[in-house]
Amino acid sequence: MSALQATLESGWVAPAGPVPEAFEAAIAEATGIRHVVAVASGTAALHLGYRCLDLQPGDEVWTSSLTFVASVAPAVQMGARPRFLDVCPESWTLDPNLLADALARAGRTGRLPRAVVPVDLYGQCADLATIRAICDRWGVPVLSDSAGGMGAIQRGRHAGVGAQLAAFSFNGNKIITAGGGGALASEDAALIARARHLATQAKEPAPHYQHETTGFSYGLSSVLAAVGLAQLAVLEDRVVARRAIFEGYRQGLGALPGLGFMPEPAWARSSRWLSTILIDPEAFGADRETVRRALAAEGIESRPVWKPLHLQPVFRGGPKGGGTALVAARLFERGLCLPSGSALSAAEQARVVRTIRDSCTG
Ligand SMILES: *Cc1c(COP(=O)(O)O)cnc(C)c1O
Repeated sequence: MSALQATLESGWVAPAGPVPEAFEAAIAEATGIRHVVAVASGTAALHLGYRCLDLQPGDEVWTSSLTFVASVAPAVQMGARPRFLDVCPESWTLDPNLLADALARAGRTGRLPRAVVPVDLYGQCADLATIRAICDRWGVPVLSDSAGGMGAIQRGRHAGVGAQLAAFSFNGNKIITAGGGGALASEDAALIARARHLATQAKEPAPHYQHETTGFSYGLSSVLAAVGLAQLAVLEDRVVARRAIFEGYRQGLGALPGLGFMPEPAWARSSRWLSTILIDPEAFGADRETVRRALAAEGIESRPVWKPLHLQPVFRGGPKGGGTALVAARLFERGLCLPSGSALSAAEQARVVRTIRDSCTG
């Protein structure tokens, strides 16, 4: 009997009971982070993370500019001000050197952020050990946006390990999906107990409904938890499949002039959740948009690398980040995420490769 069928027959479909608990235990096992609360989405996990860190209106939250808006959307909705720092070329994730300089400057003027939010990008971890050590000097907590980090390794540890709090996503497009879902994880049992309390409407223990604060309806349905549980069991297979797809692209495209790949630093093992290439328009003879349109004309979906948040209209006029996020802007201009699904067939991948090769005139 499938886990899903068992869940439906158990009578537990609400966001409580044995299946979400088993899913949480499996996430703890897969990540090596002891305490986990499963929630409705990665964004909900980040929102709870910000609440657990007591984010207040006017506080600053620092993240890398090259990310998805959900990294900071809940913080902005809580009245915080995001500051976007640049990424480093070796990993495309938050640049620890820039962070160290920016924190030292902020420390001198007494305007430290409430949280630093490194982001795991397309299955590539941020350098959490280094970032945590820098943040510890200033007493600033680290909330890792590891939504895209399941199965990725940094310095021998799973994505998110080393942060005070780490948020994961099991949305439909991620390497492991529950259809929809997320999790907040921490070594600190009290933080996760607080998150769990807030995720389930902040009900105080009393026979009637009693509240000392307001919470959210962020629990994960048992039905989705059952799907997530089954998927987690194949996480390592997925990583192997995604890495093989990346290798396929490297072999098919690596010799083209002006074409590069998202790097993998020596201290990390990327899950290659998304295979991402860089196109230097001069050497390649066509720019990123031309290649994207050529793929679209063949019915192949590809997508530019995240548009950096410091360039998004919604954040115009916000505080300026460390560096002017030049690396992130350049990666947006030249970067393209290719079809990377674990089920991509060799024939389909060959068609993607052929279309890209055909658009090269360099
Ligand atoms: C997917 C993603 C999120 C949001 O997760 P949801 O489960 O879709 O809410 C946040 N940050 C990053 C970097 C993501 O890739």
